[in-house]
Amino acid sequence: MRYISTRGAAPVLNFGEAMMTGLARDGGLYVPETVPVMAKADIAALAGLPYEEIAFRVMRPFLGETFGDDEFKGLLTKAYAGFGHAARAPLVQLGPNHFLLELFHGPTLAFKDFAMQLIGQMMQAALAKTGARITIVGATSGDTGSAAMEAFRGLANVDLFILYPHGRVSDVQRRQMTTPAEANVHALAMDGDFDDAQARVKDMFNDFGFRDGVRLAGVNSINWARVLAQVVYYFSSAVSLGAPDRSVSFTVPTGNFGDIFAGYIARKMGLPIEKLVIATNQNDILDRAMRTGDYMTDGVKPSISPSMDIQVSSNFERALFDAYGRDGAAVAALMGELKIGGFHISQGAMQMLRDTFASGRCSEEETRATIARSFAQTGEILCPHSAVGVKVAEEHLGTAPMITLATAHPAKFPDAVQAAMGTRPSLPPRMADLFDRPERVTRVPNDLAALQALIRERIAR
Ligand SMILES: *Cc1c(COP(=O)(O)O)cnc(C)c1O
Repeated sequence: MRYISTRGAAPVLNFGEAMMTGLARDGGLYVPETVPVMAKADIAALAGLPYEEIAFRVMRPFLGETFGDDEFKGLLTKAYAGFGHAARAPLVQLGPNHFLLELFHGPTLAFKDFAMQLIGQMMQAALAKTGARITIVGATSGDTGSAAMEAFRGLANVDLFILYPHGRVSDVQRRQMTTPAEANVHALAMDGDFDDAQARVKDMFNDFGFRDGVRLAGVNSINWARVLAQVVYYFSSAVSLGAPDRSVSFTVPTGNFGDIFAGYIARKMGLPIEKLVIATNQNDILDRAMRTGDYMTDGVKPSISPSMDIQVSSNFERALFDAYGRDGAAVAALMGELKIGGFHISQGAMQMLRDTFASGRCSEEETRATIARSFAQTGEILCPHSAVGVKVAEEHLGTAPMITLATAHPAKFPDAVQAAMGTRPSLPPRMADLFDRPERVTRVPNDLAALQALIRERIAR
């Protein structure tokens, strides 16, 4: 299995190399050269298997020679051992034809644990073979950072630096990033918003001297290994509702388009998915693009679903690559236009996107109303991101069962949930002492040179 860049001008890599590299050197994202299709009988055979076994069968064809079969099974076992639910990704019913996929039973209570726990194990295993060390730098609007801290703390061959926008993450998210005590993980509170933090990380990757000097690696949602790990729960949930003999649809609360792109890969692998519905909050660049064909940036408006507060949606580039017939030069040209405000998606590309994706937007008011109504009607307490998904899903219910992804636990966003429904959701017992643990964080400016100096100094210790 070989991986190519969406901009067509970076080296072709194998799985292990694509995982360690993150962002391609031409600024593009790695995608598999071809997507392996799973036979209908093989999909049917997934029904009733443990999550780890489904993960093995779905992911194995993408890994090439990077890990042996038994080795990979061992990594999966370790990755999901810390989850608080035996099913890992349980499905609950919300209405006659509407289901909620609870992806928040991992150690940091958000779906990002599914990918991050596994990529931590995979990177450590790959590095241990050569004794090499790497430096991971990531930007987060909250959930990626906490998931990464939890996944990488204490790993022998990795230093992890997480940049988050100071004052713009929830208390629970911040504490999940600042309370791990292991010396190899570093929480950095940066002045600015998420896009500033993401831009500084991109700058570090584009500074090849720094990149090679500290052996920089990325675990942001553009990392192909993360996308791949998220493909698994599309299979596990669809199969439990009757796939491959019955089609299903999914609605995905979307920010950087990583989670829903995993659904797109599942569909290409042969899972019968009728529609993938993009659900956005008031930061609705993707919904506007789907309606008008214009992908135009519009600044970030802070919302009560902060993990979806993005200006541009990085992984959308992967969908565009396919929509433009895998023409890397065309994608590179679009991304050039994006730097000066946006671009128009061609008619042919829009048609391909609309065959697969639908979209909807949920306002702040609708998000709060959905949390209150859902609790009253079903007893399910939704986090604000999941509520955006449920609201948009309800506008797209059809004959195929709809599965909405619940991307975080409500207790991760207690203020927003309390404002919406009057009661404060409590943390699961295994996390009850989060507010008693000491915090460790460094305040940093929005300044590339200062950040690079700090990272060099910390890894030299
Ligand atoms: C990251 C995140 C999202 C958005 O996922 P993308 O893969 O960036 O589209 C939605 N909800 C929650 C809770 C998240 O942490």
